[in-house]
Amino acid sequence: MMSGIAPDVRQWFPSDDGNPEKRELMMKLIGQILAGTDALKDPDSVNLKGTKLRSARFYNDLLLASEIPEQGVPMEEVGEKLLELLHAHPYHTKYFLTNILPMASIPGIVGMIAAFLVNGNNLWDVYGPAGAEAEVKVIGMMSKLAGYDPLRSGGYTSWGGQGAIFSGLRIAISKHAPDARINGVPDRLFAFCSEAAHYSLFKSMEATGLGTRNLVKIRTLPDSSMDVADLRRQMARVIHEGGVPVYIVATTGTTDAMGIDNIKDIYEAVEEVSRAYNLRRPHIHADSALGGFFAFYNDYDFAANPLSLQSDTAQALQTIQRKMAHLGLADSLCFDFQKLGQTPYLTSLFLVQDAEDLRLLDLDPDETPYVGHRGYGQYHTGYTLECSRMASSISMYSALLAFGVEGYRRLLAQFVDVNLAFRREIGARIPEAVIVNPDNPGIITLFRLYPEGGRSFREELSGSCTSQEIRRTNDLNEKMFELLGQHRDRMFFGDTKKHLTVKTEDNGHAVLYASKFFAISPYTQVEHVNEIVRYLQEKIADVYARFDMQMDKGGTISVGTARSDIR
Ligand SMILES: *Cc1c(COP(=O)(O)O)cnc(C)c1O
Repeated sequence: MMSGIAPDVRQWFPSDDGNPEKRELMMKLIGQILAGTDALKDPDSVNLKGTKLRSARFYNDLLLASEIPEQGVPMEEVGEKLLELLHAHPYHTKYFLTNILPMASIPGIVGMIAAFLVNGNNLWDVYGPAGAEAEVKVIGMMSKLAGYDPLRSGGYTSWGGQGAIFSGLRIAISKHAPDARINGVPDRLFAFCSEAAHYSLFKSMEATGLGTRNLVKIRTLPDSSMDVADLRRQMARVIHEGGVPVYIVATTGTTDAMGIDNIKDIYEAVEEVSRAYNLRRPHIHADSALGGFFAFYNDYDFAANPLSLQSDTAQALQTIQRKMAHLGLADSLCFDFQKLGQTPYLTSLFLVQDAEDLRLLDLDPDETPYVGHRGYGQYHTGYTLECSRMASSISMYSALLAFGVEGYRRLLAQFVDVNLAFRREIGARIPEAVIVNPDNPGIITLFRLYPEGGRSFREELSGSCTSQEIRRTNDLNEKMFELLGQHRDRMFFGDTKKHLTVKTEDNGHAVLYASKFFAISPYTQVEHVNEIVRYLQEKIADVYARFDMQMDKGGTISVGTARSDIR
């Protein structure tokens, strides 16, 4: 039995009658979070203010100390606790240069709040009509952008670019082995992606039970795009060995180098090989998680240039446009709003060119129809891997309305502007840092340091370096990662240990390490690039000095000071 005056359980909930007191309470609590976060901001640091002592025992201590309070804590106090979580949190200031980790935009956040206020379940349109309506609108908008026929296409909001790759694989398996859902997945089915593809497919192979052994990685060209000639060879090899190619993932914007696979060439190659062997064409998924939003430039009039883009920016965007133009050939693709769509997690859209494909995944094709093709009350998503789904479409819808085509174009153009400025400055001021994705303009620059007397990037590409030589250069770059990592509260750069696989002199293979500059914060402007490069100059000098010291101490790695003619 409860004693004393029991609290009214309604206190924790929004009103049911729209009374102003509850609204003011909610405004106050949200205001507390907004003001509290603002108080932590420092535009000259990557992190919000506050300190966190994250010792090796940090998580252990948390586990031991954390208890559910016996009596609930007043909501203002909860707000204080929430704000403590944000202390020293990375924030998207002008020095946030690390990866595809965007800031959530105001319309993206407001869209989420609208969705949360009714908390509809996107499992069924009757439970979540707002989410379903927004979802269908977003599918229509993005289908047109991708070059799909919106009356034929279909899709749903899902869990990330990875979820889209996984769903594409489920479709691919069902197309080629319709009874796989009953009998299990036959082990003769194979999937293909490039060496530079995201590990999502690798994981999906495991999760579908196909096994990663049945994933064939196709060589990349120096611009990190798939070598389509190698795709043809590998498909033919698999077929000769008794396998069936069912799934091709074309990466339209690799996560590290922003290499863009040529979908048209891939499509033609895949169709030709399939025809030659009398096989059904494999399902082609465009992994456009990173690059999809560049489709906003697909019908930009570069000649008239209504946005007055700088000529090198326009040129860069046109290079991308030429590669993105054929996105609509893919059987399925992804718009990862939580990446360049500027909405909070989780907001990703999986699209299929032909909504019939979704039937293949459905629980019961007769009873659970697919989005946009039946009447209200019949939209029950039996084909999604999730059961309950959030109405993330409302946030997407909100961002699409607020940004518009022009807003997204301007944002992307700014990222490209900043990236090009960075490349110019690096080229002019830090000759020992070589840009190793020079053919992919976009928003990412990978730069790799070379030791004095070491071999050059060009030599690495040509396959004339020993694995020892490449390892030595990788070691130097790893030192750079470490140093930048130590100071990432000042400027936050990314890095990769798998940029380009190259042949070695002894017929082995080696991967190249590189540091990463990622233009992703709207607050990074061209005028900040000068200082960013000056900072890098300092750190690079430091790295070379440390290496010299290591050499003096008799370290096995001999790396001297950089010379400018090593390229
Ligand atoms: C980020 C990324 C993914 C994974 O997307 P999530 O939204 O993180 O699941 C897949 N492919 C590419 C190319 C990516 O950049």
